[in-house]
Amino acid sequence: MGVDIGGTTTSVAFVGARGEVLASERRATRPERGAEVVIEEIASVIRDLAEAREMVPAAIGVGAAAQVDREGTVVAAPNLGWSAVPLARRLGRATRRPVVVTNDVRAATYGEWRFGAGRGARDLLCVFVGTGVGGGIVADGRIRFGATETAGEIGHMPIVHGGRRCRCPGRGCLEAYVGGWAIGARAQEAAREEPRRAAELLRLAGRRSRISARTVSLAAGRKDPLAAEILAETVGYLTTGLVGLVNVVNPRIVILGGGVVEGIPGLLPRLRAGVGRSALAAATEGLTLLRARLGGDAGMIGAAALAREGVPWRS
Ligand SMILES: [Zn+2]
Repeated sequence: MGVDIGGTTTSVAFVGARGEVLASERRATRPERGAEVVIEEIASVIRDLAEAREMVPAAIGVGAAAQVDREGTVVAAPNLGWSAVPLARRLGRATRRPVVVTNDVRAATYGEWRFGAGRGARDLLCVFVGTGVGGGIVADGRIRFGATETAGEIGHMPIVHGGRRCRCPGRGCLEAYVGGWAIGARAQEAAREEPRRAAELLRLAGRRSRISARTVSLAAGRKDPLAAEILAETVGYLTTGLVGLVNVVNPRIVILGGGVVEGIPGLLPRLRAGVGRSALAAATEGLTLLRARLGGDAGMIGAAALAREGVPWRS
């Protein structure tokens, strides 16, 4: 089984050996109830699904919107408000099954690699741009976690020295420019500086403080010049980040997913052109940029596959 614990929604699924979702359930996470209550609810959803399908899960894989250590303890999870939660141990005790826990984006990367857009690749990079920005690295046929599980935290790769304040809380991080929250903040600033040019954004959002990445995407769809400009800058920042990553990681495939990726028209060709112009020639030889294929299921499919196939640091 695969479990994806996000800030707002938790998904649980029986996942077959070919990555197919056999049965699934979604619940509101409501993390403010405390980890204990949320873990007990996940265990009860797992029991109900197992009973309904008359199947017993071989193992349970969890991807959580959190920093997770190798024992499966949530070290820190700003989106959940949890810290020092021994998630793997507690869920294991509640379900009496082996439990593996990793970061949700690393789980999604594993899912896209094994069963999605990256099938069969030895070297790939996943980039998920939603409200936050995260990623995952597969190099030489292995998913990479790093010394303390932060490999793939590409949202917090600085792209501007002394730049915009991030939520991490560094400055100039990629996420502070292209994350959904950052696009909204940049658009609100533009609307404060140039209220007349921001008329369409203000009309769509109702008021300045409600302008979001989605507002910008909607306005750009209606050919609003300011929104188009904000998105063009966003593409520029994302290109800068990708150029560095492509040079350093040297993937064969870059997989892009997440709400912001969906919300920028024609993004992939624009990124392809930008990366092709600016990255090292050797790093872009045979490089392909693709859209993620598993959508919102990538995390639970990947977590289930990690649980089934064994996490690399235990092999
Ligand atoms: Zn950051």
